[in-house]
Amino acid sequence: MTTCRICNKPLTDPKSIAVEMGPDCAEKLQRFVSSGAVDANEMARLEESGNPLIERQMRLTRRAIADGRFDRARLFLSVAMQLQTSYSPVAVGA
Ligand SMILES: [Zn+2]
Repeated sequence: MTTCRICNKPLTDPKSIAVEMGPDCAEKLQRFVSSGAVDANEMARLEESGNPLIERQMRLTRRAIADGRFDRARLFLSVAMQLQTSYSPVAVGA
């Protein structure tokens, strides 16, 4: 079963399943991104970092977004970005 990648609730609507997000969370994420907190691409890159510490921060970030706590989400995200900077090797071809 596909669950919302922001709040983890099961998804039933095909459109929501396609984007792995419920409409409420999609709207919140959109608001969070457009508040200038993070570039959507940067966020996707952090989600796929493969670093468990960063993944943990991103889980916290998503939960905060689901709760509408954008201030907390920004804080968690900034830690994830710092981890990314300090731990990841230089990307090949970047
Ligand atoms: Zn959701």
